[in-house]
Amino acid sequence: MNVVHSAPEMRQLSRHWQMSGETVALVPTMGALHEGHLALVTAASREASRVVVSIFVNPTQFGPSEDFDRYPRDLDTDLRSLAGLKVDAVWVPSVSGMYPSGFQTSVELARLPNHLCGLSRTCHFGGVALVVAKLFGVVRPDIAVFGLKDFQQVRVIERMAADLDLGVRILRHPTVRETDGLAMSSRNRYLSPGDRAIAPALYATLRSVGAKVALGATDSAQLIAEGRSALESAGFTVEYLNMCDPDTLDDVSNVDHLVLVIAAVRLGVTRLIDNLIAVPGAIPQTAHPAP
Ligand code: AMP
Repeated sequence: MNVVHSAPEMRQLSRHWQMSGETVALVPTMGALHEGHLALVTAASREASRVVVSIFVNPTQFGPSEDFDRYPRDLDTDLRSLAGLKVDAVWVPSVSGMYPSGFQTSVELARLPNHLCGLSRTCHFGGVALVVAKLFGVVRPDIAVFGLKDFQQVRVIERMAADLDLGVRILRHPTVRETDGLAMSSRNRYLSPGDRAIAPALYATLRSVGAKVALGATDSAQLIAEGRSALESAGFTVEYLNMCDPDTLDDVSNVDHLVLVIAAVRLGVTRLIDNLIAVPGAIPQTAHPAP
């Protein structure tokens, strides 16, 4: 496993593989790796002959009051987690390497960020699109794998890759969960034991909204009101609970087709997000059994 720090070295490695007829998959991460990240890496190794994992806590996607400084960083542990998997290179850029002095380019999408997490995290998706465009520019992957836990992020990347003709296939990976249903996240380690006990109620609530849709409920305002109230009773501060179109992320008022049920909540200092796809007349789609 090569651990690469410089962009030119990473570019050369990737180009060398592709010139030899191999395919390259990229799994972008911010480190603090857990089973969710590792599942993406395993999926990448099924799709391409070479796998690159990037580890970079990207400052441009954090707002001034967010957790950039205290975001968990432990490269040695991350490298140990990856050691048993088929990984050909781990690219660990530096902030100054990615954003040297004089840097002034931005990547903005006109509509997808104006929903959901983008409303409170106003610079977040511009920062994500920028860093992923740069990662793609260096690695030039054939495939890149992203997790559906960050549903809005996946849509932003898919849109950007299509709009800019980046020639990379975006692979969506289902959310990997703890046995009680909580979506795995690097930020779960911030949860106090009491909050950790409450946290699975987020997914349980989304499932209950999905189940009502499956049973024929169509009034999203009512479903959202009931869901919000369940989340608040469980102890969450609700940032949003929405039902929206899975492509545009526009709100859906009458649920007559497949709908994204998505939420962001707070427990103490920890912000949690989760989502599922609900289908009228069908049990909620999930890779996880009911908690
Ligand atoms: P992050 O390190 O949080 O930026 O995440 C890196 C990638 O891993 C993103 O594509 C995330 O969507 C994905 N990811 C994070 N948590 C999970 C999870 N529980 N299941 C599946 N993918 C995940």
